Amino acid sequence: MRIVLLGAPGAGKGTQCKRVVARYGLLHLSSGDILRQERDAGSELGRKAEIYMDSGLLVPDEIIVKMMAGAISKAPASGFVLDGFPRTVNQAAELDKSLASVGRRIDAVLNLKVDDRVITERMGGRRSCPRCGAVYHVENLKPKVEGICDNDGTELVQRPDDSPDVVANRLKAYHAQTEPVVGYYRDNNTVYDVDANKDVDEVSALIFGKLDAHFVVRDA
Ligand SMILES: [Zn+2]
Repeated sequence: MRIVLLGAPGAGKGTQCKRVVARYGLLHLSSGDILRQERDAGSELGRKAEIYMDSGLLVPDEIIVKMMAGAISKAPASGFVLDGFPRTVNQAAELDKSLASVGRRIDAVLNLKVDDRVITERMGGRRSCPRCGAVYHVENLKPKVEGICDNDGTELVQRPDDSPDVVANRLKAYHAQTEPVVGYYRDNNTVYDVDANKDVDEVSALIFGKLDAHFVVRDA
């Protein structure tokens, strides 16, 4: 089973990815992790990517696609879940070409749909402990004492990534760039829309409801 997981920042992709790979025995392929691994290993692709990253530029599609194709070629027969990739229509088309060259294709696309308002609340309400890294939420996951870390009594802060301006910009970039990817897959693959406004367990249940059918053992 070869799955692509799409969704805006704050849609809960990371958590759902972990649950999906655990349930079906798949490999989790996060483009962010793979990029870091290649860079740390000093591979040719990693060194090329580093030049762009150090200049604050987006790593070109060609490099990303080659990296991901390399990681995919090492995936087990059971399959994989792609997380954070493809990010553009061009990357999606290149991925399809690369899979087709070995007689494969993407089997299913999960599209986690969340209202911008919900994402803004989720991310904007996050507070983190600068000492131990614990993450809280002003509404959904309150510390025992407001603004203070349960573990070590440190004053909680809002990380720059969770500030309203940064969240708004990331959502804008997502809508402009990645939503067309959903459209691309609608034309070519099975896309499952998942209402990710709900809480994490409900979202997992919705996803399993769609995917379980693909994993039914067929008796002879
Ligand atoms: Zn703490």
